[in-house]
Amino acid sequence: MFRKILIANRGEIACRIIKTAKAIGVSTVAVHSDVDAKARHVALADEAVALGGAAPKDSYLRGDLIIAAALQTGAEAIHPGYGFLSENPDFVDDVVKAGLVFIGPSAKAIRAMGLKDAAKALMEQAGVPVVPGYHGDQQDGGFLAGQAEAIGYPVLIKAVAGGGGKGMRRVDDKADFAEALRSAKSEAANAFGKDAVLIEKYVAAPRHIEVQIFGDGEDAVHLFERDCSLQRRHQKVIEEAPAPGMTAAMREAMGSAAVRAAKAIGYSGAGTIEFIVDGSEGLHPDRFWFMEMNTRLQVEHPVTEAVTGLDLVEWQLRVASGERLPLRQEEIRLSGHAFEARLYAEDVAAGFLPATGRLLHLAFPDHCRADTGVRSGDEISPWYDPMIAKIITHGETRAIALARLGRALDETEVAGTVTNLSFLGALARHAGFARGEVDTGLIARDLADLTRGSDHTRRETVLAAAAALHAAGISEAPTAGFALWSPRSRQVRLDRQNGVIDAVITVEGPDAARVDIAGEVFWARRQGAGWRLEGEAPLRIVEAGGIHVFGAGTTASFTRHDALNRNAAAGPGDDMTLAPMPGLVRAIFVSEGTEVAANQPLCLLEAMKMEHTLKAARAGRVAAVFVSEGQQIAAGDPLVQLEAESMADA
Ligand code: ADP
Ligand code: ADP
Ligand code: MG
Repeated sequence: MFRKILIANRGEIACRIIKTAKAIGVSTVAVHSDVDAKARHVALADEAVALGGAAPKDSYLRGDLIIAAALQTGAEAIHPGYGFLSENPDFVDDVVKAGLVFIGPSAKAIRAMGLKDAAKALMEQAGVPVVPGYHGDQQDGGFLAGQAEAIGYPVLIKAVAGGGGKGMRRVDDKADFAEALRSAKSEAANAFGKDAVLIEKYVAAPRHIEVQIFGDGEDAVHLFERDCSLQRRHQKVIEEAPAPGMTAAMREAMGSAAVRAAKAIGYSGAGTIEFIVDGSEGLHPDRFWFMEMNTRLQVEHPVTEAVTGLDLVEWQLRVASGERLPLRQEEIRLSGHAFEARLYAEDVAAGFLPATGRLLHLAFPDHCRADTGVRSGDEISPWYDPMIAKIITHGETRAIALARLGRALDETEVAGTVTNLSFLGALARHAGFARGEVDTGLIARDLADLTRGSDHTRRETVLAAAAALHAAGISEAPTAGFALWSPRSRQVRLDRQNGVIDAVITVEGPDAARVDIAGEVFWARRQGAGWRLEGEAPLRIVEAGGIHVFGAGTTASFTRHDALNRNAAAGPGDDMTLAPMPGLVRAIFVSEGTEVAANQPLCLLEAMKMEHTLKAARAGRVAAVFVSEGQQIAAGDPLVQLEAESMADA
């Protein structure tokens, strides 16, 4: 085994790798960008080396600096995590040339699987079923249209160099093919510097089921499947193992196809074979097809760990240090069911726009596994993936594991940034999902229900009532509270994001109080050091840079009213639209003088793998547009300004 390894990554995955390294007695070296100097992964590692600027190209993608850091600290091997340099074969070559070990497959295996067309051809040869379609060299538009026709609509156009759902277009009708091809190619050229595409049959009621494999260069085994069908715009949201409805015959067919794929390239280390499955009539061994191979540890590997009881990072380190596979196929057992939910800093109501901010408070219940790269006080910066944590639960049955996931999400506390927590909670309670009726279209079909939240206004009032009770300060003096109060009623004024809230708290005895707020009356009873609103589920309150109320997956933050600070509390104003993150301006829909309605799209920004539409905060006339199409922008750059509202309107 290695004495010391360097982890060429950040965030939750760097922390995850350090945890196993520590457990098996391996020293760790972290690397970091300027903005990550105090990050959790740096604090957990034994040593740390600074790389450079915040932008990945100046730090986490600087293979030369990373290799130099490994040599300088005496690390023997480099673990790439996922993303960044993990699937870059040139980096692997450089690591090996420097006399170090790359904890992952060979450069040759990564090259063989890197392009979707070459990988499909290779898999066909190995007897693995591939999605019917065209994956040859011909790229002429007319020719590809002919292929689409022959395959039969609907079809999917995919960038051969694609990843993260980019350069992909579904086409349902012949008339739309030419335009879809043009936009897929332009997105692919932008993202991957290569515009070649392939055409696939669009599988009906598609399910994404992938098989975890492990190789040691000679032998290979599989660690069962994961179902990642719960996706939004081709991005995984909740993953589980095993796949609902899986049969022994189907598992055997998929598992052996995956092992065949791994053996065909003499694979070493952890990898995933992704299959697309036609789930329209249950699972059938002749209705799954190879999509692509991910030659790295996967984001969702914890669900496999939960159902096998194995540590995949430990396996990676053992195999990379020259050991044979720790177990034979028949020794690997599947036990129970597991889920993983990806908690992101994102504004669900604004179309899942990635968000940033300082985490004023972050806490997870201790009855789940929470893999995270941040702590209370850390910043979700615009530079990297806005994932806050992965929440993983396990149970004897799928129903138990899912109930545990729902409870874990309900009890997770995040303040300081908006998150997708209540969206994840709604998914965990979705009736079809609970029945195991998953396909990649579920989220899009039920988006309105999943993002609505239950009776929003009333919920806000409940949370505000709890915050007002807390702010009244009677919780600290459980017995003396009543006597100290004079008069019996106290007025509390709170600031929140969109205005001021007034409440009147009246003490009605040593253990009871009444809250008058927003035309409603709540009764509260003392419970422990705090209060419980009668008829409401229990709420938790944390004061940290504000008063944060948590309950059943919802969060609301308030501050004690500060009359001098009204402008700051009201935010930067809604005249100016600023870039929420660094990115590229793809399109601008308005120009100086355009009259816009509230919520009318102003421009399209491409950032963090996705396109985001920025909308007008209010109706008005555009005073100025500060950017042009194709321009690269930094977070906070002004984009569009509206004319100030006249005093008469205000
Ligand atoms: P996985 O297949 O391991 O679950 P995904 O398919 O979700 O990973 O993502 C593919 C790659 O894109 C991963 O290497 C991951 O690091 C990266 N990635 C995932 N989500 C984001 C994001 N929101 N922003 C930037 N990179 C991301
Ligand atoms: P990426 O490299 O972006 O991860 P994939 O080829 O893995 O691209 O596809 C991403 C997602 O797109 C899949 O998880 C699935 O939801 C959907 N998808 C891909 N191929 C098909 C297909 N032939 N039919 C239906 N859906 C598909
Ligand atoms: Mg994929």
